[in-house]
Amino acid sequence: MVWKGRIECILICTHMIENGKRIVIVGGVAGGASCAARARRLCEKCTIEIFEKSPFVSFANCGLPYYVGNVITEEKNLLVATPQRFHDYFNIKVHTEHEVTAIDPAAREIEVCDLKTGVRRSEPYDALVMATGANAIRPPLPGIDLPGVRILRTIPDSRRMRAAVEKAGSAVVVGGGFIGLEMAENLVRRNISVTIIEAAPQVMTPLDPEMAIRVAQQLKENGVEVRVNCAVESFAESKGGGLEVHVSTGESLRADLAVLAIGVKPAAELAVTAGIDTGSSGGIHVDDSMRTSDPNIWAVGDVVETTDIVTGTRRPLALAGPANRQGRVAAATIMRSFYPETCERRSGIRFRGVQATSVCGVFGMTVAMTGANERALQHAGIEDFERVYLHPGHHVGYYPGARPIHLKLIYSTTDGRILGAQAVGEAGVERRIDVIAMAMQMGGTVFDLEEAELCYAPQFGAAKDPVNLAGMIAANTLRGDFSPAAWEELNSSNAVVLDVRSPEEFRDGHIPGSVNIPLPDLRGRIDELSPAESEEWKHREVWLTCGVGQRAYYATRLLMQNGYNVKVLSGGMMTYETLVAARSQSAAP
Ligand code: FAD
Repeated sequence: MVWKGRIECILICTHMIENGKRIVIVGGVAGGASCAARARRLCEKCTIEIFEKSPFVSFANCGLPYYVGNVITEEKNLLVATPQRFHDYFNIKVHTEHEVTAIDPAAREIEVCDLKTGVRRSEPYDALVMATGANAIRPPLPGIDLPGVRILRTIPDSRRMRAAVEKAGSAVVVGGGFIGLEMAENLVRRNISVTIIEAAPQVMTPLDPEMAIRVAQQLKENGVEVRVNCAVESFAESKGGGLEVHVSTGESLRADLAVLAIGVKPAAELAVTAGIDTGSSGGIHVDDSMRTSDPNIWAVGDVVETTDIVTGTRRPLALAGPANRQGRVAAATIMRSFYPETCERRSGIRFRGVQATSVCGVFGMTVAMTGANERALQHAGIEDFERVYLHPGHHVGYYPGARPIHLKLIYSTTDGRILGAQAVGEAGVERRIDVIAMAMQMGGTVFDLEEAELCYAPQFGAAKDPVNLAGMIAANTLRGDFSPAAWEELNSSNAVVLDVRSPEEFRDGHIPGSVNIPLPDLRGRIDELSPAESEEWKHREVWLTCGVGQRAYYATRLLMQNGYNVKVLSGGMMTYETLVAARSQSAAP
């Protein structure tokens, strides 16, 4: 029905529009360019103009770190479309180096400054789309404006960064998020020695700490120095040239270059001045048709805040996918507003909200996630959740080259709804997260993951794909086949920790105080768990562990059917090691 309605809407819009309206778009990159092109495909008669303050439209800002790293060698490859192409393909006029300086919503006009001549003029609109993106956060720290302190948002920024890299031997990257990590990798590629400083106790804060620790380890293994719990306080020129970066630990780090990558904030100043509502994050408030508080103004991309589908909170999200999709939604709903009698009917086009599905490459490791992490859930007051860990191969073990995927699935204990997933590994990671992301968007549960029919051949996956396994393990907990033990209570619980690995594996490292009975021996040695002379033991829980959780699960079923009160330490020793490492990292100065 929805599809039929959408197709009808498009056909009707295309054929019935008689008098052209004027759509003006501020900002011509991801959201703005996508909105413009879609609007033209829906309406031949409208006038569509883009005003973009930089010299470029529709460029690949996501490719900039790789241009600095010389993976992308030619600047022209970053240009997804040019003003000429917008003109030739879409009859859209693009005004580059034109900054929109004010909006007059009552008169439906914008003020535009031609940056080449300095001349200002007014431009009318019937519909205005704000696609102004986000600004890099630049705290007012001493020395932040020194020439060696750089950000990377635009093509001119990347030119400057490439020039700086030519002369640099060392760099401090401030911020361990997506862009910070991509920059670190690309600077190392250019033979620069890199230190990441991150104020939080971990890099990659959208991950939970025990997942992020793998990323920190990967950085270190590739020669990057990682300092967490370490905030930059000031920059100064170094006597011998370069910079001194003063940090909260009292140290001073010398570097030829500092890259500031501590996040962005919505570039909503124009909208605020025009009286358009913004939310608590500073992003422009929009409804699900991307319309702002002004009925003639829409907003898309990094500049808006929308609803997080997991937590229900309003948030900005600086990602290219949502910006592009929002641009399309805005184009469709603008048409609906122009021609309500023809386009409103059953169009069903709306923005569904965000879930922060994202991916990052770190020296051959893929880090991907979707939905909420534990911190975000707690912050949103959601307490009825559980998590499971698993470490399956990205394809079957018998086919050469299987690499582990470290996967964490978070789900509602009330109804099994998937709340979030995080994965780290060398291969097949983003595919699993994408599948889970789609299931989440459709309101899916762990039972849906358990039943998902996914493609399989030995070199690609497994008959029980990691996505199925995650669903099966989580579904087993909800059905009462086993209960996950709370890793965080390991030290405070009086449970017997039973390790069912082989004696050799146990000798190589185990949880302090744990008991080792290998799985094959367990049936014969079950009485050792509750010695007859010790009444107290009978009332203790048995928490099971093994390498990755599989043998522990088998042992659980065995023990449960023998009347024991059993829980599984999800993900086994492979999870334990990261939890211990994450704890010691967060405690590090
Ligand atoms: P932008 O694409 O930022 O476009 C906004 C445009 O508006 C700018 O060109 C700006 O010049 C213009 N503008 C602003 N104010 C005015 C004004 N007053 N008048 C005229 N023009 C104006 N996302 C991912 O999903 N994956 C990635 O791998 C990824 N990597 C990234 C790497 C880097 C280095 C950067 C900077 C971003 C990356 N992103 C990535 C984020 C992604 O690029 C953004 O989320 C996306 O571009 C947002 O689109 P937008 O249209 O809202 O804003």
